[in-house]
Amino acid sequence: MILDKYNRIHNYLRISLTDNCNLRCFYCMPEENYSFMPSAQLMQADEIKQIANAFIGLGTNKIRLTGGEPLVRKDADTIIKSLATFPIKLSLTTNGVRLHEFMDTIREANITSINVSLDTLQADKFQLVTKRNNFKRVWDNIHLLLENNIHVKVNVVVMKGINDGEINEFIAWTKHFPIHIRFIEFMPFTGNRWMDDKVFTWQDILGTIEMKYSWIKLKDEVNDTTKKYIVPGHQGTFAVISTMTSPFCSTCNRMRLTADGRMKNCLFSKGETDLLAAFRRGEDIVPIILGNVQEKAAERGGQFVEDYHQLQAIGIENRSMIAIGG
Ligand code: SAM
Ligand code: SF4
Repeated sequence: MILDKYNRIHNYLRISLTDNCNLRCFYCMPEENYSFMPSAQLMQADEIKQIANAFIGLGTNKIRLTGGEPLVRKDADTIIKSLATFPIKLSLTTNGVRLHEFMDTIREANITSINVSLDTLQADKFQLVTKRNNFKRVWDNIHLLLENNIHVKVNVVVMKGINDGEINEFIAWTKHFPIHIRFIEFMPFTGNRWMDDKVFTWQDILGTIEMKYSWIKLKDEVNDTTKKYIVPGHQGTFAVISTMTSPFCSTCNRMRLTADGRMKNCLFSKGETDLLAAFRRGEDIVPIILGNVQEKAAERGGQFVEDYHQLQAIGIENRSMIAIGG
């Protein structure tokens, strides 16, 4: 079992397969001076399997593949299938652009739920946010998943003045489709031009929804990062991820591996542990994993202040989101 000094059990690992991506979301990927990691620096498919196995031996029962965009990696198919042989819940966070090419793999790996990111329902705004013209592809692929009875969670990063006006369009989508919309408060990472006045809070989001819909609060699970709701009569549900205004750190069970094999005990941790280098040297990585989690801060990497308006984003020591793995 992996425990931290606050007695939180850690059984959920997120593995980034690459920091490369076929989109260029401005809130995730720094515009200037970003160079992708050379492929020799990345964990290779067999290394991912063996490192994952060490985590599973310590009680990890859930693995999510992320990135960058996990589905742009050439051997994504091999990695997904090899991790699917473990007795874990395997899932994926993707921008959805290449999902149609992976339907057989998803079926074979028995993946039953996928998180797809989509911040806008307008094709021109999609282009503005991602710098690519793929709205229709993502939209069609979300419906392809639904047709194949795969549960879809849609991640929407809500940013004031950019897409906050579309919140109720997303809610309208839940009327006839069994999708789950997750509104995420905009978070600061290196190079993402975060400003406190761009944050559209959990309270703002619910206030906007209340102008048009009534909702019922649903029960959240112990390790949920979300607060879940349903509009009565709708097939789908929605949730808010309120990292900036009301974090969920007290029940956190998450660990992260970056594509270059560094372990992070928190999305906002300053430090990281080079697990891949130790693995390549033939060292036992079990004590290194346990030691990394022991160092975990109580909340948000120990780098935030209570009131996000007072936050100096420039002072947060971290990677950019695309290099961490969301
Ligand atoms: N490429 C995949 C995707 O877009 O779903 C997986 C990686 S992406 C980094 C994972 C999630 O992080 C996405 O849902 C994305 O919207 C979210 N994300 C990225 N930057 C963020 C930020 N600054 N604040 C909040 N969420 C962010
Ligand atoms: Fe790529 Fe996902 Fe980051 Fe957008 S959010 S740039 S799709 S990794």
